Amino acid sequence: MGDLPLEVKVDIPNGKSYTQPTGLFINNEFVYPKDKKTFEVVSPSTEEVITSVYEAKGEDIDIAVDAAIEAYKSWSISAPETRQKVLLKLADLVDENADLLASIETFDNGKSLQNSKGDIALTAAYFRSCAGWCDKITGNVINTGGSHFNYTQRVPVVCGQIIPWNFPILMLSWKLGPVLATGSTSVLKSAEQTPLSALYMAKLLVEAGMPKGVVNVVSGFGKIAGAAISAHMKLDKVAFTGSTLVGKTIMKAAADSNLKKVTLELGGKSPNIVFDDAKIDAAVQHIIAGIFYNSGEVCCAGSRVLIQSGIYDKVVETLKKAVEDIKVGDPFNPETFMGAQVSEVQMSKILQYIESGKEQGAKVITGGKRSEGKGYFVQPTVFGDVKGHMKIAKEEIFGPVVTLIKFDTVDEAIEIANSTEYGLAAGIHSTDINKCIGVANRINAGTIWVNTYNDFHPMVPFGGFHSSGIGREMGEEVYHEYTQTKAVRIKLDTTGFK
Ligand code: NAP
Ligand code: MG
Repeated sequence: MGDLPLEVKVDIPNGKSYTQPTGLFINNEFVYPKDKKTFEVVSPSTEEVITSVYEAKGEDIDIAVDAAIEAYKSWSISAPETRQKVLLKLADLVDENADLLASIETFDNGKSLQNSKGDIALTAAYFRSCAGWCDKITGNVINTGGSHFNYTQRVPVVCGQIIPWNFPILMLSWKLGPVLATGSTSVLKSAEQTPLSALYMAKLLVEAGMPKGVVNVVSGFGKIAGAAISAHMKLDKVAFTGSTLVGKTIMKAAADSNLKKVTLELGGKSPNIVFDDAKIDAAVQHIIAGIFYNSGEVCCAGSRVLIQSGIYDKVVETLKKAVEDIKVGDPFNPETFMGAQVSEVQMSKILQYIESGKEQGAKVITGGKRSEGKGYFVQPTVFGDVKGHMKIAKEEIFGPVVTLIKFDTVDEAIEIANSTEYGLAAGIHSTDINKCIGVANRINAGTIWVNTYNDFHPMVPFGGFHSSGIGREMGEEVYHEYTQTKAVRIKLDTTGFK
């Protein structure tokens, strides 16, 4: 503790070596926290300690917030093209460093390199999309008659941002893109399990020309650094992605402190519905993409697959075969689709759910165990004969476990789909567009994918109904989440002109 250098050399198992920052990133520099405490970062695929990083506590958050407030003074009134230049350069840097960033992500999170590469491509695309918005955040003139002149402005915020471990770089981009585009400033906390790529991205922010203090990145624990951010008296907003339970804690802290604005992107138990007239092979591919992508650690995972009775057996047979073909293991092997779960804790939680499914009478069609050997790997698991009351049908597992539920009619499918406290996403598979739209109209979720799944685009907003969250990320809507409206009403004196 305390003698860890602010930069360490890291050797990644795929042969890449790089210099990893370990300090808190404040005012464009990596610095020591006040008490110089560190914590270890473990690779889930090798179970080895990669390095330690410095931990932020309340006092350090105060310093970071002050930096964000100071930077706000000029950044919030900077020319849009200044911010656009930073975002475009950042996107280019992400592309140029794609192989290294993907390798860091895979080493720290355990996800397959295939998955990491996909995240990095989406990250660059999102920063480019945000760059395009810099000069489109405008106000209105409101005509209330000749006695007054009224206009509105969108005013950026000083915010705290707390991100999870399942998509460290991608969630950072969803948070920082709109900050940079709107002229907001931020203190961002990464997840304790995956702090490495956020610190590396901080280096790229400097290289992209971001002025000091605009974005500050800290590593640390939710209950300490995260709590300090959500309860901070000087922040205008907190944006969070993670569990519903913690989302509620954050909202309470925001309310009890200074009523800062809150956006929450939380959990889900999303239905993925396959109708009798679906193309079976395609639907099965989307079931797999829906639940086994990112080792199932996806907030909008299609974890409840609802299959119409006429094709149930055929889908089960095709799915079983396809799942047994999924390559699980060494995440650096380019062929691997599913890497490790993020931590031993997460793996144990998933294995407990699998046991509860077995105990409650669901049938294991395939998988159902931890994989042999080192690393936190779980077999892709399919449960059949699942009933609505079972824990595995109701609770978010956040792992590679899918529950298959049979239904007869469209009404029944919709009822099952909507019988959840969540409402993040849903999938519909059918060749009848009328049915697809009709069903989409009746499902309570923020995102509906038709004949596809986990299919994101920077222009399409994402966020949840009900316990899945508040607010939207991406699309045009996110710019409203990072600005507040200021209305200016001017009383005119139109007399006395010569
Ligand atoms: P989590 O606790 O919700 O973590 C998300 C982020 O919130 C992390 O940065 C975390 O810090 C921070 N945090 C935790 N407690 C906090 C508090 N009291 N105040 C402020 N910030 C706090 O998620 P988890 O415990 O890692 O995972 C548990 C479950 O959450 C998963 O099994 C899954 O169901 C769900 N989850 C959902 C998402 C999603 O994308 N919606 C992502 C991850 C997890 P620490 O890193 O120190 O915990
Ligand atoms: Mg880790």
